[in-house]
Amino acid sequence: MTDLTSLTIAEAREKLKAKEFTAVELTDAYLSAVNAANEKLNTYVAVTPEKAREMAKASDEKLASGNAGVLEGIPLGVKDLFATRGIHTQACSHVLDGFKPEYESTVTQNLWDAGAVMLGKLNMDEFAMGSSNESSYYGPVINPWRANGSDKNLVPGGSSGGSAAAVAAHLCAGATATDTGGSIRQPAAFTGTVGIKPTYGRCSRWGIAAYASSLDQAGPIARDVRDAAILLKSMASVDAKDTTSVDLPVPDYEKAIGQSLKGLKIGIPKEYRVEGMPEEIEKLWAQGIAWLKDAGAEIVDISLPHTKYALPAYYIVAPAEASSNLARYDGVRYGLRVDGKDIADMYEKSRAAGFGSEVKRRIMVGTYVLSAGYYDAYYLKAQKVRTLIKRDFETVFHDGVDAVLAPITPSSAFEIGDKELAADPVKMYLQDVFTITVNMAGLPAMSVPAGLDGKGLPLGLQLIGKPFDEETLFKTVYAIEQAAGKFTPAKWW
Ligand code: GLN
Repeated sequence: MTDLTSLTIAEAREKLKAKEFTAVELTDAYLSAVNAANEKLNTYVAVTPEKAREMAKASDEKLASGNAGVLEGIPLGVKDLFATRGIHTQACSHVLDGFKPEYESTVTQNLWDAGAVMLGKLNMDEFAMGSSNESSYYGPVINPWRANGSDKNLVPGGSSGGSAAAVAAHLCAGATATDTGGSIRQPAAFTGTVGIKPTYGRCSRWGIAAYASSLDQAGPIARDVRDAAILLKSMASVDAKDTTSVDLPVPDYEKAIGQSLKGLKIGIPKEYRVEGMPEEIEKLWAQGIAWLKDAGAEIVDISLPHTKYALPAYYIVAPAEASSNLARYDGVRYGLRVDGKDIADMYEKSRAAGFGSEVKRRIMVGTYVLSAGYYDAYYLKAQKVRTLIKRDFETVFHDGVDAVLAPITPSSAFEIGDKELAADPVKMYLQDVFTITVNMAGLPAMSVPAGLDGKGLPLGLQLIGKPFDEETLFKTVYAIEQAAGKFTPAKWW
C-alpha cells in the first residue's frame, strides 16, 4: 500500500469514499508519522491520539452510511492559537500554562462539522509574534528542508511555523494557521507549502487568541492549491460571535481551479523591488511573470507608493493592539499564577514569569505608542499611513488590475539562532517587508511555491487580490503551481 500520509486531501477524500482504506487507518498513519518525527521537528506541542481515533471512527460510520461531510476523515493539525475544547490551547506561551478552554473556536468547529479529524496542536511563535518560530515557549520548530549537503537546522518561518513544517513533512493533511503580518504566507514560502490569508472578515476570529484584532485573520496551510481551496471553503463563515466577520456567501473555491487566465490583468508593483534584494528573488519574480503571461494574463507595471511606510506603521499598530489584548493575562482566572504579597504584585510576577522577551518587547512598545503625549505622534499617524496603504491598492484595482504579483520573503529559510537576526529585532521585523501591506489593507493574499534557490531551498511568490476575490487568487496561483511543480523535502528525520 502507498504511504497514506503522502496523499493530498483531494486524493485521500476520493480514496476514503472508494473505501480503499478507512479514516481510522489514515489517522493511525499520521499518528505514527508524528510520533516518529516530533522529537526532531518539534511541530506538535500536543498530540491528541484518543480524540483523533474517536473522530476517525465517527467519520468511518458517516462514510459507510453515505452522509459524509466534505472533509470526512481528513486528519488536520491546529495552530495552538485556536481554542479547542478541553485540549491544550496556550498560544505557545508559558502564561497560559494548563489552559484547556470550555469552548471551541468557530474555524475549528466548522472543520469538525465538515468531518475533519484533529491530530493535535501545532507549535508557533508565542502569541503569533515572530517570523521564525523561535519565540515559542516550547522551543523552535525545525524546518523539514535542509540546504544541499548541509545538516544545519533551519527555521520554518513564523509565526505558523509548526503548521507549515507539519504540512511539509506530511505530519497532517493540512493545518489551520493565522496571518497578522505574514504568518501564513512566510512560513508557507519557507517550507514549499501553499497558504492563503483570506480577506479580513472571511473567517471568524472567535476563539482565536487575539494578537492584533484589526489585522488577525485565519487561513489554511496546505500541500497544494486545490487542498487550500478545499480547506478555506470549510473554514470561512459569517459568525454572530465575531462582528467583523462578513455575511457574504462562501464560494466553492475549488471551482476556480483550472479556469483560464485570459483577460486577467496582473499588476507588478515597482516598490517591491527593494534595495539589496537577492538576485534569486528577482529571477523568481520574473519567472512568475513569464508563467502568468504564458497562461494568458496581461502584465502591467503599477505603483503602490506608500509601501515603504507599511513596516514601521505595522510595528506601531500591531504592538498597540497587542498591549491591550494581552492585558487579560494576569494570573487571576486561568493560566500561570505566581503568588505575590498582594494582588498587584501577583499580576506583575505572573506576567513577568509568563511572557517571553519578544512578547514583553511588543507590550512595552504598544503601551508607549498609546500613552498620553505619544498617541498622536505614533498611533494616530500609523493609522493614517494605514489608510494611505489601503488607498494605493484601491487605486490600482480601480484602474482595472485584478491581482498583484510580488515576492513573499527577502530570502529562503535561515538558520536557527541566526546571530544577526537574534541581535537586532528590527532585522527580524524586516522579514515581513513584503507581507505586511496586505494585512494593513485587509486584502486576501496567497503564497505559492515557485522554485528552489541555489541551496535547494524553497522560495515562494504571493498574489494579492481584491477584497473577497479569493477565487481569482486560486485560479491564478494554480497556473504558477502547474508551471513550477510541487516541492517536497527529502526525509532525514
Ligand atoms: N512577523 C510578524 C510579527 O511578528 C507577523 C506575525 C503574524 O502574522 N502573526 O508581528
